[in-house]
Amino acid sequence: MEKMTRYEEVVHQAREAFHSGRTRDIEFRKKQLKALKRMYEENESMFCAALAKDLHKPKQESVLLELNLLKDDITHILARLDEWAKPEKIASNLVTMFDTPLIYHDPYGVVLVMGAWNYPLQLPLLPMSGAIAAGNCVIVKPSEVSPATAQTIAELIPKYLDSDCYHVVCGGIPETEELLKQRFDYIFYTGSPQVGKIIRDAANKHLTPTTLELGGKSPVYIDDTVNMDIAVRRIMWGKCINLGQTCIAPDYILCSKEVQEKFVNKAREVLKEWYTENPQKSPDLCRIVTDKHVSRLEEYLKDGTVAVGGEVDKEDKWISPTILVDVNPESKVMTEEIFGPIMPIVNVNSAYEAINFINKREKPLTLYIFTKHKDIPNLFLARTSSGSSCVNDTVIHLSVHDLPFGGIGNSGMGAYHGKASFDTFTHRKSCLIRNYNKIADAIGAKRYPPYSEGNMKFLSNMLKERAAPSLKYLPYLLTFGLGVASVFAVKEIAKAVGADDD
Ligand code: NAD
Repeated sequence: MEKMTRYEEVVHQAREAFHSGRTRDIEFRKKQLKALKRMYEENESMFCAALAKDLHKPKQESVLLELNLLKDDITHILARLDEWAKPEKIASNLVTMFDTPLIYHDPYGVVLVMGAWNYPLQLPLLPMSGAIAAGNCVIVKPSEVSPATAQTIAELIPKYLDSDCYHVVCGGIPETEELLKQRFDYIFYTGSPQVGKIIRDAANKHLTPTTLELGGKSPVYIDDTVNMDIAVRRIMWGKCINLGQTCIAPDYILCSKEVQEKFVNKAREVLKEWYTENPQKSPDLCRIVTDKHVSRLEEYLKDGTVAVGGEVDKEDKWISPTILVDVNPESKVMTEEIFGPIMPIVNVNSAYEAINFINKREKPLTLYIFTKHKDIPNLFLARTSSGSSCVNDTVIHLSVHDLPFGGIGNSGMGAYHGKASFDTFTHRKSCLIRNYNKIADAIGAKRYPPYSEGNMKFLSNMLKERAAPSLKYLPYLLTFGLGVASVFAVKEIAKAVGADDD
């Protein structure tokens, strides 16, 4: 027999493990999830050191935005897994009223999870918890662009999780290409829209379902009613965490000239308060992940007038938190995802103008609206399309576990976090379990040939979908209820006299 490649071997091993049925057992899944949580707890300093090496990530960001998110997500899943996993009972119709329609929550099988480098711990491992909870075997590929974290994940996962069911594969583009030649039952990818298309093409060969968590530009609209001190802090915090390398970072601002002036003045003050006169010396700011990205970001500085920041130190992979004004809406900084600490501002004169601006572009991953007006948020929510939205804050919406997190259009497809992670990795398998009850069979037998007008009318009536109850129909409903009750009574009598076959 021909020798299997490394990737064929890994997938084969995971598939064998899946077919052993081990991961179907809820207690097995819980044991693995508890072990994963223990892994985060026992190795916090190792993970923080790796994140600091890859991105100069401050401990507070590593703990709050990576480790705690992962641990809390598992706590959330463990408390609800029994409820989520059990078969769901569904209302029957009159023909099948003695039977049991159910939805089973089936795992897909062998799942591939690929993460991006900007949150190199939580992006591959948060979906992995959902995949484990749903009963899948998992092959996880952390990003090669954050090698220290990838190495730590590869070293620790086999020490804590079942090594047949769960695997870590490291590598760059050639390795990913090889991996994608394998057949998976689900692919979960986080990264850029460009590579998302490559992943979708590879998945298509085997008709593999995919979730794509992609990027794009997340706009911020600010009107003149806001409390500027609070708004600036909430917006600039979202821009500055991970030095702007956050998929849902506020990408650019739409506001009037007057609001812009107030925003810039306040932002200058707040940035000085947070990071001092020399933000490069602040321990609370990350670094840009690679030289290539520093050069890309430096180019954007030419697309407007620097109102705040603008310092670049290539040796240190550093760009200071920057605000750009007088920006051409068609320039690169306004047409490409920024993914760095540069905030361009484009002037609009009304919420309608902002909505038109947003709707002419790709659908954002997140849309931020800052206003005290009661109806402005609804105007944006009703007239724009985005993966998610947050009113009067940035990024914080992802702390709500059961708010599904995902994009739409160019910013992705599918969602995860909390229950949405479990649902993503679960196939809802419908099943109707019938019995041999003689009364039910007599009703069902009307479908058999020879066909007749009478049988057709009888079955049409029995199978007819009744509209939602309304008081107007109360008398009819009571009559119908009495009818159903008498059928049940007949069933009980049939049982008592032995006519029921079960
Ligand atoms: P990327 O798409 O360039 O790379 C992601 C991974 O894909 C890499 O680690 C690599 O292994 C693989 N890859 C790259 N090129 C490939 C190719 N030609 N063939 C096969 N595999 C290939 O993304 P990135 O630079 O790691 O991440 C940045 C992007 O990810 C941004 O657009 C950001 O918005 C997005 N992102 C989205 C989310 C989200 O949750 N929606 C989260 C984080 C990042």
